[in-house]
Amino acid sequence: ATEPERYRRVLVKLSGEGLLGDREFGLDLEMVDRVAGEVKAVHDRGIQVCLVIGGGNIFRGISTAAKGMDRTSADYMGMLATVMNALAVQNALEKKGVQTRVQSAIPMSMVCEPYIRRRAIRHMEKGRVVIFAAGTGNPFFTTDTAAALRAVEMNCDAILKATQVDGVYSADPNKDPTAERFESLTFTDVLTRDLRVMDTSAIALARDNNIPIVVFSLHSPGALGEVLSRRGRFTEIR
Ligand code: UDP
Repeated sequence: ATEPERYRRVLVKLSGEGLLGDREFGLDLEMVDRVAGEVKAVHDRGIQVCLVIGGGNIFRGISTAAKGMDRTSADYMGMLATVMNALAVQNALEKKGVQTRVQSAIPMSMVCEPYIRRRAIRHMEKGRVVIFAAGTGNPFFTTDTAAALRAVEMNCDAILKATQVDGVYSADPNKDPTAERFESLTFTDVLTRDLRVMDTSAIALARDNNIPIVVFSLHSPGALGEVLSRRGRFTEIR
């Protein structure tokens, strides 16, 4: 017999970088397709899935503001970039036969639905994957905070944060060979040790609402499904 699923509903946070593949900028459609495959596999298990996708592969507000643009304008451009990523992932999922809806925090009625909390929940109950676009809809925030916010609003059992490394390390594993991966951490550990997992507001939201964050890498195929079965390598923050 198959064992019951541990999670009923999860939010997957994917940074824009996760869609870069070998590119320096923009979208690698092969990566988009791979990500969609990972999400479909989880959806096929009957786990309700929603997604928040970043925009850093196309546009990052803060770095553009540093070059002289108004921070708010730059941030709105960053939010629009996340809409493009959302549409790309939506398309890839639907090609695989998964029903989806994109909901944007900035209403764009010709492109996708506006964010409506109760409607998003209903979509998931009906087996649709919901992709939340345009972050929180506010400048000075990040898509990590949007992920934590939506996870709380959607009553998710966990936030699964896909990163470039397979968990949280004591130092940058790409620079420091002595860096060690944590199996688990508390939210307070993350905040007091200033471990750069997600920004502080995202960590605080998850902590205050008791939603664990699981940090893992999407580099190996099947990683998302493994993490949901508590196999493979990851760091759990709770
Ligand atoms: N952004 C914003 N408010 C939000 C979410 C995102 O202003 O609620 C802007 C911000 O400029 C950010 C950009 O959108 O730099 C892209 O999002 P993020 O950097 O979080 O993407 P990721 O790093 O996950 O690819």
